[in-house]
Amino acid sequence: MAEDDVNPFESLQEQIDDAAAFIDVEDGELERLKHPERVLETNLTVEMDDGSLEVFKAFRSQFNGDRGPYKGGIRYHPGVDRDEVKALSGWMVYKCAAVGIPYGGGKGGIRVNPINLSADELERLTRSFAEELRPIIGEDRDIPAPDVNTGQREMNWIKDTYETLENTTEPGVITGKAIESGGSAGRVEATGRSVMLTAREMFAYLGRDIADATVAVQGYGNAGSVAAYLLDDLGADIVAVSDSSGAIYNPDGLNERAAKQFKRETGSVVDFEGATEELTNDELLTLDVDVLIPAALENAIDERLAREVQADVIVEAANGPLTPNADEVLVEKDVYVVPDILANAGGVTVSYFEWVQNRQRFHWTEERVNDELERVTTEAFDDLVDVYESHEVPNLRTAMYVVALRRVLQTFREGGVWP
Ligand code: GLU
Repeated sequence: MAEDDVNPFESLQEQIDDAAAFIDVEDGELERLKHPERVLETNLTVEMDDGSLEVFKAFRSQFNGDRGPYKGGIRYHPGVDRDEVKALSGWMVYKCAAVGIPYGGGKGGIRVNPINLSADELERLTRSFAEELRPIIGEDRDIPAPDVNTGQREMNWIKDTYETLENTTEPGVITGKAIESGGSAGRVEATGRSVMLTAREMFAYLGRDIADATVAVQGYGNAGSVAAYLLDDLGADIVAVSDSSGAIYNPDGLNERAAKQFKRETGSVVDFEGATEELTNDELLTLDVDVLIPAALENAIDERLAREVQADVIVEAANGPLTPNADEVLVEKDVYVVPDILANAGGVTVSYFEWVQNRQRFHWTEERVNDELERVTTEAFDDLVDVYESHEVPNLRTAMYVVALRRVLQTFREGGVWP
């Protein structure tokens, strides 16, 4: 039986506990680090195109604001629930701390399958959520961004709704906007870029060359597809990719840019002519490749699948794709897992650059964005390696959490408790 019912919020808390064993932290402080400060739960009433009304459940969790404004995306997915959003908001706290950017963590979501809604319905739904969020967001308070099934279009709607209601211009209230609406060069590619950079660093650390690697990618959305073509640009072979409809394989390597174009046209990578074979999702995850990139949703690899994993390195492009039990199995098997809070942190890092540019009303070149992202990512990787080599931690995830928890704790302690 798959562990797909593993509660991601419990996974987050377990990950924090695992790392807390290696740091100096009081019980009360640890409790604080494991729970969100507040969660907004709301029911959005939306008029559908046929005139009927539908109600959609939506959440925004503000987990921890010690290091700066709450920061994190908004996802549209039928599986959104309170605990998932709480977990995702906690992962944002430790992600931002891991890469040393001045943000806390938050996350939001609407329980909806956006495929079933027209563009007009999605706009009304998004603006309705933006109206609910308005009192609790702001460029110094809480800054949403894209996540699963949301992108520039939704961010532009949220910005417009917020600015209209507030009678101001405040592009830094949200990131991941289109360029002409205050977005940053390089933001769309940023998550995939940090996946590529951390895979490259991991291979260098292991004394191997990423150019010789074979790669399988589960999930061909914004993170997975970009990671695939950037790794291909380094010389790696992308032999398998998948989406929610199925997986495709070619042992000689797929043309991942053409596969992305094919998915854009047909809705899926399945039937892409460059493939020699179709695979199931489980077959892709257990392929004998050098690098496996889970880039879909939480709990993609559970204990059972972890036992069958043949990759040497897993780079987590998704948030929370491995269950804690899977992590334990992979430690036994000496599989290196580059944790989500580092591997996919490129998205929020370039969101930070977008916000800095918005506040300065100044535009950076794509080259500057990519150079700064590379600097932030490689420095964080070095911080991870320092802890990994100097502590008896079981894996890279725990090492990264040690770095992140220490940073959040230090900020909390310096501020003290009030009142
Ligand atoms: N949704 C992305 C993440 O999970 C990006 C968040 C952001 O840019 O604030 O990291």
